[in-house]
Amino acid sequence: MNHDDLNHWSKRAADWITDYHATLRDRPVRAQVSPGDLLARLPATAPDMAEPPEDIFADFEALIPGALTHWQHPRFFAYFPANAAPASMLAEQLMSGIGAQAMLWQTSPAATELEQGMIRWLIRALDMPEDWTGTIHDSATTATLSAVLTMRERALGFAGLTEGLSDQPRLRIYASAQTHSSVDKAVRLAGIGQDNLVKVPVRDDLSMDPDALTRAIGADVAAGLMPAGIVFCAGGTAVGAFDEITACLPVARAHDLMTHVDAAWAGSAMICPEFRTLLEGAEDCDSLVFNPHKWMGAQFDCAVQLIRDPVDQIRTLGLRPDYLQTLEGDEVTNFNEWTVPLGRRMRALKLWFVLRAHGLDGIRVRIRNHVAWTRELCEVLRGEPGLEITSEPRLSLFSFALTGGCAATEALLTRINADGRIYLTQTTHAGRFVIRFTCGTWDCTRDDVMAVWEVIRDLR
Ligand SMILES: *Cc1c(COP(=O)(O)O)cnc(C)c1O
Repeated sequence: MNHDDLNHWSKRAADWITDYHATLRDRPVRAQVSPGDLLARLPATAPDMAEPPEDIFADFEALIPGALTHWQHPRFFAYFPANAAPASMLAEQLMSGIGAQAMLWQTSPAATELEQGMIRWLIRALDMPEDWTGTIHDSATTATLSAVLTMRERALGFAGLTEGLSDQPRLRIYASAQTHSSVDKAVRLAGIGQDNLVKVPVRDDLSMDPDALTRAIGADVAAGLMPAGIVFCAGGTAVGAFDEITACLPVARAHDLMTHVDAAWAGSAMICPEFRTLLEGAEDCDSLVFNPHKWMGAQFDCAVQLIRDPVDQIRTLGLRPDYLQTLEGDEVTNFNEWTVPLGRRMRALKLWFVLRAHGLDGIRVRIRNHVAWTRELCEVLRGEPGLEITSEPRLSLFSFALTGGCAATEALLTRINADGRIYLTQTTHAGRFVIRFTCGTWDCTRDDVMAVWEVIRDLR
């Protein structure tokens, strides 16, 4: 395949994509295949001889779409959305044609400076302090890992980087049980250890109990352990819990703890002033992650970490071996020093395209619609006999269950996903198996949301 073929087949691909999006509602949302189906249809070895593009494209059409779960399907209500605006797809198409690797300023100045520009736009859009900065990671998991590594080194006076952890005091990180498992993963990978992630009890509204936090930190200090940081939950994955950050900050300050906010999903909604109150206090923390690839139309992957002062994180993650030295020195930002991997994609382009193609207002309208339709659906389901709302809507997320018990609820979910018209997933809430509803795909309409009611009625 040469560049002329690329031109020809890109146009074919563009047509295919248009058709794909136009017919998504006709496809089952979740792949209706069994494990191993696709693998069994692939040859066991790579071809020795070149194959024509026609054959490759034909096999793509024959094998792949039927084995996909369609994340951009307007009736995808599972997990959290990973929504993608057409403007974002266009930007990614351009980037894939350029094939840049943006590890240093020098290796693509446009990548670094567009990233800085987009971070500035997002700081203002989220009403965060003007003197903050930030970077773009692949995922919230990596952003939180970067923050936890920084917590570790800040607490150890940066000794862990060289000496390792075996002779260091035992570090402690605090988070509520509503936080995402990426926090557990971060403390494991950072060598802090799962046992040193203190799951602080929550209050009735599922927010971290500030008194319990204060007691936990006090007990750890008394026992000779070393508190290092707190990860706040701003929009939990199970049922959308929010910590009351302002109530927890005094104890963080008293012990000089670094604070990081996980707003991976809910962060995008903070461009709406009426929702921004849920994030109150984040501006007094040290770091925050949110995923424009969830709810802001910039397709996966795009996780933005906003940072009060990057010095500690750069000291933790940055390395400058000889082969990465550049003449610009400290005049420029080399973003690989802010993140775990050395190589980086140019992720700012899709943000630039989306934010301009829709404006913040265009994105706000979508988010507000998603929230309003979620509440509407919740009220309708509340009226259904034998069905119970198990957690109230938080932004575009609520959960429900059948009053008949966990087994009945689980069986209903299995029927729903085998049916294919909509896609929902489960969580455990207050010890019960519950079904989560969340919406947020780019082309989702009110009718799509209300289809959930129809499907549930059909399948009960
Ligand atoms: C989705 C999510 C994550 C993980 O995001 P990735 O980008 O997939 O790593 C972390 N925290 C919360 C609250 C999330 O919703």
